[in-house]
Amino acid sequence: MNEVKERPMARSARTGEAPPAIRKVGVVGAGQMGNGIAHVCALSGFHVLLNDVAAERISEGLATISGNLARQVSRKRISEEERQAAIKRITPADTLDALGECDLVIEAATEKEDIKRRIFGTLCPALRPETIVGTNTSSISITRLAAATDRPERFIGIHFMNPVPLMELVEVIRGIATDDSTFEATKHFIGKLGKQIAVSEDFPAFIVNRILLPMINEAIYTLYEGVGNVEAIDTAMRLGAHHPMGPLELADFIGLDTCLSVMQVLHEGLADSKYRPCPLLVKYVEAGWLGRKTQRGFYDYRGDKPVPTR
Ligand code: NAD
Repeated sequence: MNEVKERPMARSARTGEAPPAIRKVGVVGAGQMGNGIAHVCALSGFHVLLNDVAAERISEGLATISGNLARQVSRKRISEEERQAAIKRITPADTLDALGECDLVIEAATEKEDIKRRIFGTLCPALRPETIVGTNTSSISITRLAAATDRPERFIGIHFMNPVPLMELVEVIRGIATDDSTFEATKHFIGKLGKQIAVSEDFPAFIVNRILLPMINEAIYTLYEGVGNVEAIDTAMRLGAHHPMGPLELADFIGLDTCLSVMQVLHEGLADSKYRPCPLLVKYVEAGWLGRKTQRGFYDYRGDKPVPTR
């Protein structure tokens, strides 16, 4: 795949400066979303620096990327040369300071506002003033996160879907201060990744999760109230509504901690009791049963095949 060549971008209304051509992308958080974002960026010709607070998460992330790229080769989606070139474009970054040369940094760390704020507090002073900072948050206000940075004009929501290499959509969310040049540069960047864009206003959980997470939360209430067990609920929605995955299977795939955080943001942000997180979801998270990533959630993944836990 060719190296990325950028066309000139619209200028910032406030500063009059054009945003930098995006060549080098920093990714903060090497979990399931961060490694997926690094994967698609590298495959599209961008140089990627992959950071995490835990060094082992970076090596696990790189191993996951390598395995997923190999699967794409075996399915003839990409060539062996493309796989090797993509891997060479990803460099581990042990500190946020190491992201100083990036033209765009995408934060994909744990869905907790205080964690994200602390990251921006350390990250932004290390960046050039014109560098764009994006967040992959599923639900938190872009305007509020932007206000915690030194660059609200250059801050934007870039919400990838899971699994990143397979899903076609990226939601783009402008904060109140996001300038036109940042918006245009972001859309251009997403186009280079071969993804489609849906633009969402900056309200809790944006579009996809505003609709999806209350459905998952309702499935957990259905389980909590004994209307059906895990198997019945997932089978009902797979075969009765033609969903590719049942809602509880999907919750495990997303991560129950992320599901709970999104419901809390909806509940607090919209102050409507219809978004009340199900107490059973809270209990699973308190137990540390976070779904696939901890091998236990609504299913137990420690054996040969997933076994419902209820
Ligand atoms: P995850 O738990 O798989 O990964 C989070 C990573 O962030 C971990 O590796 C953790 O070590 C790292 N981290 C925590 N604190 C950090 C810090 N201070 N600096 C650097 N790294 C830090 O979670 P995920 O599913 O990849 O979610 C990441 C983000 O993406 C969240 O904001 C989430 O809401 C969003 N998101 C998730 C999904 C999904 O389906 N899981 C979909 C879209 C968006």
